[in-house]
Amino acid sequence: MRTVQTVKDGEVKSLEVVRDVASLRTKVWEWRRRDESVGLIPTMGALHEGHLALVEAALRTCDHAVTTIFVNPTQFAPNEDFEAYPRDEADDLAKLEALSADLAFVPPVEEMYADGFSTSVAVSGLTEGLCGASRPHFFGGVATVVSKLLLQALPDRAFFGEKDYQQLRVVTRMARDLDIPVEIVGVPTVRETDGLAMSSRNWYLSPEERAVAPTLHKVLCDIAGKLSNGDASAVAIGAGKSVLENAGFGPVDYIEVCGADTLEPLERADRPARVLAAAYLGRTRLIDNVPVG
Ligand code: AMP
Repeated sequence: MRTVQTVKDGEVKSLEVVRDVASLRTKVWEWRRRDESVGLIPTMGALHEGHLALVEAALRTCDHAVTTIFVNPTQFAPNEDFEAYPRDEADDLAKLEALSADLAFVPPVEEMYADGFSTSVAVSGLTEGLCGASRPHFFGGVATVVSKLLLQALPDRAFFGEKDYQQLRVVTRMARDLDIPVEIVGVPTVRETDGLAMSSRNWYLSPEERAVAPTLHKVLCDIAGKLSNGDASAVAIGAGKSVLENAGFGPVDYIEVCGADTLEPLERADRPARVLAAAYLGRTRLIDNVPVG
Protein backbone atom coordinates (compact mmCIF):
# COMPACT_ATOMS: atom_id res chain seq x y z
CA MET A 1 0.00 0.00 0.00
CA ARG A 2 1.38 3.43 -0.91
CA THR A 3 0.47 6.58 1.05
CA VAL A 4 1.10 10.13 -0.08
CA GLN A 5 0.52 13.08 2.23
CA THR A 6 -0.70 16.53 1.20
CA VAL A 7 -1.59 19.53 3.32
CA LYS A 8 -4.91 21.28 2.66
CA ASP A 9 -6.44 23.98 4.87
CA GLY A 10 -3.79 23.22 7.46
CA GLU A 11 -4.93 19.60 7.66
CA VAL A 12 -2.75 16.69 6.53
CA LYS A 13 -4.57 14.52 3.98
CA SER A 14 -3.31 11.26 2.60
CA LEU A 15 -4.08 9.53 -0.65
CA GLU A 16 -3.72 5.80 -0.24
CA VAL A 17 -3.13 3.65 -3.29
CA VAL A 18 -4.26 0.02 -3.16
CA ARG A 19 -4.02 -2.57 -5.90
CA ASP A 20 -5.95 -5.54 -4.57
CA VAL A 21 -9.63 -6.08 -3.75
CA ALA A 22 -9.00 -7.23 -0.17
CA SER A 23 -7.26 -3.95 0.76
CA LEU A 24 -9.97 -1.92 -0.98
CA ARG A 25 -12.67 -3.75 1.00
CA THR A 26 -10.84 -3.41 4.31
CA LYS A 27 -10.51 0.33 3.85
CA VAL A 28 -14.12 0.95 2.74
CA TRP A 29 -15.58 -1.31 5.44
CA GLU A 30 -13.53 0.54 8.08
CA TRP A 31 -15.15 3.81 7.00
CA ARG A 32 -18.65 2.43 6.70
CA ARG A 33 -18.42 0.76 10.13
CA ARG A 34 -17.79 4.26 11.49
CA ASP A 35 -20.94 5.46 9.65
CA GLU A 36 -18.83 7.49 7.22
CA SER A 37 -20.18 7.57 3.67
CA VAL A 38 -18.14 6.54 0.65
CA GLY A 39 -18.33 7.68 -3.00
CA LEU A 40 -16.80 5.60 -5.80
CA ILE A 41 -15.56 7.10 -9.07
CA PRO A 42 -14.74 4.46 -11.71
CA THR A 43 -12.32 5.75 -14.40
CA MET A 44 -9.82 4.52 -16.94
CA GLY A 45 -7.28 7.13 -15.84
CA ALA A 46 -5.65 9.86 -17.96
CA LEU A 47 -7.60 12.07 -15.59
CA HIS A 48 -8.82 15.48 -16.75
CA GLU A 49 -11.19 18.05 -15.29
CA GLY A 50 -14.21 15.99 -16.33
CA HIS A 51 -13.07 13.11 -14.14
CA LEU A 52 -12.09 15.49 -11.36
CA ALA A 53 -15.61 16.97 -11.34
CA LEU A 54 -16.85 13.49 -10.41
CA VAL A 55 -14.29 13.28 -7.58
CA GLU A 56 -15.34 16.74 -6.37
CA ALA A 57 -19.02 15.74 -6.48
CA ALA A 58 -18.15 12.68 -4.37
CA LEU A 59 -16.14 14.74 -1.88
CA ARG A 60 -19.02 17.25 -1.58
CA THR A 61 -21.62 14.60 -0.81
CA CYS A 62 -19.66 11.78 0.85
CA ASP A 63 -17.11 11.58 3.66
CA HIS A 64 -14.62 9.70 1.47
CA ALA A 65 -13.90 9.44 -2.27
CA VAL A 66 -12.45 6.28 -3.83
CA THR A 67 -11.27 6.66 -7.43
CA THR A 68 -10.61 3.56 -9.47
CA ILE A 69 -8.12 3.64 -12.34
CA PHE A 70 -8.38 0.63 -14.61
CA VAL A 71 -8.16 0.49 -18.40
CA ASN A 72 -10.68 -2.30 -18.83
CA PRO A 73 -9.65 -4.64 -21.66
CA THR A 74 -13.10 -6.24 -22.04
CA GLN A 75 -14.69 -3.02 -23.28
CA PHE A 76 -12.29 -2.68 -26.21
CA ALA A 77 -12.67 -4.68 -29.44
CA PRO A 78 -9.44 -6.17 -30.87
CA ASN A 79 -9.23 -3.39 -33.49
CA GLU A 80 -9.72 -0.60 -30.91
CA ASP A 81 -7.24 1.49 -28.94
CA PHE A 82 -6.66 -0.59 -25.76
CA GLU A 83 -2.85 -0.59 -26.17
CA ALA A 84 -2.68 3.04 -27.27
CA TYR A 85 -5.11 4.33 -24.62
CA PRO A 86 -3.29 7.11 -22.68
CA ARG A 87 -1.90 5.99 -19.30
CA ASP A 88 -0.10 8.21 -16.78
CA GLU A 89 -0.54 6.85 -13.27
CA ALA A 90 1.86 9.29 -11.56
CA ASP A 91 0.04 12.28 -13.03
CA ASP A 92 -3.37 10.80 -12.14
CA LEU A 93 -2.34 10.23 -8.52
CA ALA A 94 -0.92 13.77 -8.26
CA LYS A 95 -4.28 15.16 -9.43
CA LEU A 96 -6.18 13.08 -6.87
CA GLU A 97 -3.77 14.12 -4.12
CA ALA A 98 -4.31 17.77 -5.01
CA LEU A 99 -8.06 17.30 -4.42
CA SER A 100 -7.44 15.52 -1.09
CA ALA A 101 -9.17 12.40 -2.40
CA ASP A 102 -8.85 9.51 0.06
CA LEU A 103 -8.11 6.37 -1.89
CA ALA A 104 -7.15 5.21 -5.37
CA PHE A 105 -7.79 1.62 -6.42
CA VAL A 106 -5.42 0.74 -9.26
CA PRO A 107 -5.70 -3.00 -9.88
CA PRO A 108 -3.62 -4.94 -12.40
CA VAL A 109 -5.63 -6.82 -15.04
CA GLU A 110 -5.13 -10.18 -13.26
CA GLU A 111 -6.71 -8.80 -10.07
CA MET A 112 -9.89 -7.98 -12.00
CA TYR A 113 -9.91 -10.97 -14.38
CA ALA A 114 -8.56 -14.12 -12.77
CA ASP A 115 -7.57 -17.08 -14.94
CA GLY A 116 -10.72 -18.74 -16.23
CA PHE A 117 -12.88 -15.65 -15.74
CA SER A 118 -16.14 -16.56 -17.46
CA THR A 119 -18.96 -14.34 -16.22
CA SER A 120 -20.41 -11.31 -17.95
CA VAL A 121 -23.24 -8.90 -17.23
CA ALA A 122 -25.51 -8.05 -20.16
CA VAL A 123 -28.09 -5.26 -20.10
CA SER A 124 -30.50 -5.75 -22.99
CA GLY A 125 -32.49 -3.07 -24.82
CA LEU A 126 -30.70 0.05 -23.63
CA THR A 127 -27.37 -1.23 -25.01
CA GLU A 128 -28.54 -2.13 -28.49
CA GLY A 129 -28.74 1.28 -30.20
CA LEU A 130 -26.45 4.34 -30.31
CA CYS A 131 -22.88 3.32 -29.31
CA GLY A 132 -24.00 -0.29 -28.81
CA ALA A 133 -24.78 -0.66 -32.52
CA SER A 134 -21.24 0.07 -33.72
CA ARG A 135 -19.45 -1.20 -30.57
CA PRO A 136 -21.40 -4.38 -29.72
CA HIS A 137 -18.75 -5.60 -27.22
CA PHE A 138 -18.63 -2.30 -25.34
CA PHE A 139 -21.52 -2.24 -22.87
CA GLY A 140 -21.04 -5.88 -21.85
CA GLY A 141 -17.48 -4.96 -20.84
CA VAL A 142 -18.64 -1.83 -19.04
CA ALA A 143 -21.54 -3.51 -17.20
CA THR A 144 -19.30 -6.38 -16.10
CA VAL A 145 -16.44 -4.24 -14.82
CA VAL A 146 -18.72 -1.67 -13.15
CA SER A 147 -20.75 -4.36 -11.38
CA LYS A 148 -17.46 -5.87 -10.15
CA LEU A 149 -16.20 -2.48 -8.91
CA LEU A 150 -19.51 -1.73 -7.16
CA LEU A 151 -19.52 -5.13 -5.46
CA GLN A 152 -15.83 -4.96 -4.57
CA ALA A 153 -16.09 -1.56 -2.89
CA LEU A 154 -19.78 -1.46 -1.88
CA PRO A 155 -19.79 2.35 -1.62
CA ASP A 156 -22.87 4.42 -0.75
CA ARG A 157 -22.80 6.22 -4.10
CA ALA A 158 -21.04 5.88 -7.45
CA PHE A 159 -20.48 8.82 -9.78
CA PHE A 160 -20.69 8.73 -13.59
CA GLY A 161 -20.47 11.50 -16.19
CA GLU A 162 -23.34 12.55 -18.43
CA LYS A 163 -20.65 12.82 -21.11
CA ASP A 164 -21.18 9.05 -21.56
CA TYR A 165 -24.93 9.35 -21.32
CA GLN A 166 -25.85 5.89 -22.61
CA GLN A 167 -23.32 4.37 -20.19
CA LEU A 168 -24.91 6.31 -17.31
CA ARG A 169 -28.35 4.94 -18.22
CA VAL A 170 -27.00 1.39 -18.61
CA VAL A 171 -25.17 1.44 -15.25
CA THR A 172 -28.24 2.89 -13.51
CA ARG A 173 -30.43 0.11 -14.94
CA MET A 174 -27.87 -2.58 -14.15
CA ALA A 175 -27.56 -1.52 -10.50
CA ARG A 176 -31.34 -1.41 -10.14
CA ASP A 177 -31.93 -4.76 -11.86
CA LEU A 178 -29.25 -6.56 -9.85
CA ASP A 179 -30.25 -4.94 -6.53
CA ILE A 180 -26.74 -3.58 -6.06
CA PRO A 181 -27.24 -1.28 -3.06
CA VAL A 182 -25.38 1.71 -4.48
CA GLU A 183 -26.94 5.02 -5.57
CA ILE A 184 -25.83 5.92 -9.11
CA VAL A 185 -25.26 9.67 -9.48
CA GLY A 186 -24.94 11.47 -12.85
CA VAL A 187 -22.65 14.51 -13.13
CA PRO A 188 -22.99 17.13 -15.93
CA THR A 189 -20.42 17.15 -18.74
CA VAL A 190 -17.35 19.34 -18.22
CA ARG A 191 -16.35 21.17 -21.42
CA GLU A 192 -13.41 23.15 -22.75
CA THR A 193 -14.17 26.86 -23.12
CA ASP A 194 -15.01 26.30 -26.81
CA GLY A 195 -17.61 23.66 -25.92
CA LEU A 196 -15.66 20.48 -26.70
CA ALA A 197 -16.51 17.82 -24.10
CA MET A 198 -13.36 16.89 -22.19
CA SER A 199 -12.22 13.37 -23.02
CA SER A 200 -9.02 11.35 -22.67
CA ARG A 201 -9.34 10.62 -26.40
CA ASN A 202 -9.02 14.34 -27.24
CA TRP A 203 -5.27 13.69 -26.85
CA TYR A 204 -5.40 11.86 -30.18
CA LEU A 205 -6.57 14.95 -32.12
CA SER A 206 -4.13 16.83 -34.36
CA PRO A 207 -4.11 20.65 -33.96
CA GLU A 208 -6.26 20.96 -37.10
CA GLU A 209 -8.76 18.38 -35.83
CA ARG A 210 -8.80 19.99 -32.38
CA ALA A 211 -9.82 23.29 -34.01
CA VAL A 212 -12.78 21.61 -35.74
CA ALA A 213 -13.83 19.34 -32.84
CA PRO A 214 -16.13 21.86 -31.01
CA THR A 215 -18.45 21.77 -34.05
CA LEU A 216 -19.89 18.55 -32.64
CA HIS A 217 -21.23 20.31 -29.54
CA LYS A 218 -22.45 23.30 -31.59
CA VAL A 219 -24.40 21.01 -33.92
CA LEU A 220 -26.00 19.17 -30.99
CA CYS A 221 -27.04 22.48 -29.40
CA ASP A 222 -28.52 23.65 -32.75
CA ILE A 223 -30.50 20.43 -33.06
CA ALA A 224 -31.74 20.73 -29.46
CA GLY A 225 -32.83 24.33 -30.18
CA LYS A 226 -34.76 23.28 -33.30
CA LEU A 227 -36.46 20.46 -31.42
CA SER A 228 -37.50 22.89 -28.68
CA ASN A 229 -39.11 24.99 -31.42
CA GLY A 230 -41.15 21.97 -32.52
CA ASP A 231 -39.09 20.74 -35.49
CA ALA A 232 -39.18 17.03 -36.32
CA SER A 233 -36.11 15.06 -35.29
CA ALA A 234 -35.33 13.82 -38.81
CA VAL A 235 -35.18 17.35 -40.27
CA ALA A 236 -33.00 18.74 -37.49
CA ILE A 237 -30.69 15.72 -37.58
CA GLY A 238 -30.30 15.86 -41.37
CA ALA A 239 -29.20 19.50 -41.25
CA GLY A 240 -26.79 18.79 -38.37
CA LYS A 241 -25.21 15.84 -40.15
CA SER A 242 -24.44 18.02 -43.20
CA VAL A 243 -22.79 20.65 -41.01
CA LEU A 244 -20.58 18.01 -39.40
CA GLU A 245 -19.58 16.47 -42.73
CA ASN A 246 -18.82 19.88 -44.25
CA ALA A 247 -16.63 20.69 -41.23
CA GLY A 248 -14.53 17.56 -41.87
CA PHE A 249 -16.19 14.94 -39.66
CA GLY A 250 -16.81 11.53 -41.15
CA PRO A 251 -18.18 9.03 -40.98
CA VAL A 252 -20.91 10.24 -38.67
CA ASP A 253 -21.74 7.11 -36.69
CA TYR A 254 -25.09 8.41 -35.43
CA ILE A 255 -27.04 11.48 -34.42
CA GLU A 256 -30.24 10.57 -32.59
CA VAL A 257 -32.97 12.14 -30.52
CA CYS A 258 -33.93 9.82 -27.67
CA GLY A 259 -36.07 9.70 -24.56
CA ALA A 260 -33.89 10.94 -21.72
CA ASP A 261 -34.50 7.91 -19.53
CA THR A 262 -35.08 4.86 -21.69
CA LEU A 263 -33.28 6.12 -24.83
CA GLU A 264 -36.08 5.14 -27.23
CA PRO A 265 -35.83 7.07 -30.55
CA LEU A 266 -38.21 10.03 -30.69
CA GLU A 267 -39.71 11.57 -33.84
CA ARG A 268 -40.22 14.79 -31.91
CA ALA A 269 -39.11 15.99 -28.50
CA ASP A 270 -42.57 15.60 -27.00
CA ARG A 271 -41.17 14.32 -23.65
CA PRO A 272 -37.85 14.78 -21.81
CA ALA A 273 -35.28 14.16 -24.54
CA ARG A 274 -31.57 14.05 -25.23
CA VAL A 275 -29.68 14.52 -28.52
CA LEU A 276 -26.74 12.12 -28.77
CA ALA A 277 -24.04 11.73 -31.41
CA ALA A 278 -20.87 9.85 -32.26
CA ALA A 279 -18.68 10.88 -35.19
CA TYR A 280 -15.16 10.29 -36.41
CA LEU A 281 -12.75 13.17 -36.79
CA GLY A 282 -9.80 11.62 -38.58
CA ARG A 283 -9.16 8.40 -36.65
CA THR A 284 -10.68 9.64 -33.39
CA ARG A 285 -14.24 8.74 -32.50
CA LEU A 286 -15.86 11.58 -30.53
CA ILE A 287 -19.15 11.29 -28.63
CA ASP A 288 -21.29 13.97 -27.04
CA ASN A 289 -24.88 14.67 -26.00
CA VAL A 290 -27.05 17.53 -24.78
CA PRO A 291 -30.49 17.76 -23.17
CA VAL A 292 -33.42 19.23 -25.13
CA GLY A 293 -35.01 22.25 -23.45
P1 AMP B 1 -13.45 7.18 -18.60
O1 AMP B 1 -12.15 7.29 -17.87
O2 AMP B 1 -13.45 7.82 -19.93
O3 AMP B 1 -14.00 5.77 -18.58
O4 AMP B 1 -14.48 8.04 -17.75
C1 AMP B 1 -14.66 7.81 -16.38
C2 AMP B 1 -15.86 8.60 -15.92
O5 AMP B 1 -15.62 9.99 -16.14
C3 AMP B 1 -17.14 8.25 -16.67
O6 AMP B 1 -18.23 8.23 -15.76
C4 AMP B 1 -17.27 9.37 -17.66
O7 AMP B 1 -18.60 9.63 -18.06
C5 AMP B 1 -16.73 10.53 -16.83
N1 AMP B 1 -16.30 11.62 -17.71
C6 AMP B 1 -15.41 11.56 -18.73
N2 AMP B 1 -15.31 12.75 -19.35
C7 AMP B 1 -16.16 13.59 -18.69
C8 AMP B 1 -16.52 14.96 -18.86
N3 AMP B 1 -16.00 15.72 -19.83
N4 AMP B 1 -17.43 15.49 -18.01
C9 AMP B 1 -17.99 14.73 -17.03
N5 AMP B 1 -17.68 13.44 -16.83
C10 AMP B 1 -16.79 12.87 -17.64
